[in-house]
Amino acid sequence: MNQSYVVKLRFWQDAWNGTRSFAEDFPGLFSLSRNPEASVAEVASFVGGSEWDHSWHYDFRRRLGETEAIEFAALTHRLQEVSLTLPTEDKRGWGWDPSQLFSVKSFFYGLCLENSLASFPVYNLIWKSVTSMKVRVFAWMAWLGKINTTYVLQRRLPHITLLPSRCCLCFSHMESIDHLFLTYSFSCRLWEELSREVGIEWQNPQFLRTWMEQATAISCGNKRNLLFKAGLLTLLWALWGERNQRIFKEIDNTWQEIWESTKRNVGLALHGHKEFVGWSWQQWQGNWSDFC
Ligand SMILES: [Zn+2]
Repeated sequence: MNQSYVVKLRFWQDAWNGTRSFAEDFPGLFSLSRNPEASVAEVASFVGGSEWDHSWHYDFRRRLGETEAIEFAALTHRLQEVSLTLPTEDKRGWGWDPSQLFSVKSFFYGLCLENSLASFPVYNLIWKSVTSMKVRVFAWMAWLGKINTTYVLQRRLPHITLLPSRCCLCFSHMESIDHLFLTYSFSCRLWEELSREVGIEWQNPQFLRTWMEQATAISCGNKRNLLFKAGLLTLLWALWGERNQRIFKEIDNTWQEIWESTKRNVGLALHGHKEFVGWSWQQWQGNWSDFC
């Protein structure tokens, strides 16, 4: 690893070697440092005036204890890889890409390394589904629980009187994401329809998060899998749209109308997919289970 002679970056507190600072990685040593603000250049004491030849001068307050000695060995190991070059101006660089330039891809991989995909188990369900971006983003927000429920809306739209924290569809439950998308009878009816058409059975889900995680794990034939997953996400989107129409436009659709429009949108998203080559519009509108 070749690093510029770093004039202003702080040895302990800036992440100049890797994505974390030495203060984070070696807290014991950091707490012993006499000068926690020291720059990299200050800690690297150069031998014989040559910019190339340096040794590290840490200036600890006291001798190292046992655990600190272990940290010190690890730090020394990290620094073996470092060679400082001629003085240059400090530059900001993006640490997750060798080119030092920001890219969404490197950011994504960096986040994956830090958090691991285990913390986002519905990754495949959402981001590998064949649906429009707005549907995927909405499903992602729903899984995170970041959908504007009545409570949030009421605060934003004080001039409209919404029954506080009541569901705007049935007026008899607290409005929660789980109620709206899963347990409200209207929503249940639509889930039954999806189950029938893709030929997959499941127990009535109660919680959106667990339902989406379960759904991620369901795998069946390619066609049915694509229809099921696109259908699931598109249905979430459609239910949210229906809720908003009822509140803001006072238009009620029947569950049949919602199901038809969901199928239409799934058809629009999937019709170019190689699994569905030759599907006619009648097939998209018909009972899917007849064709898979
Ligand atoms: Zn309700």
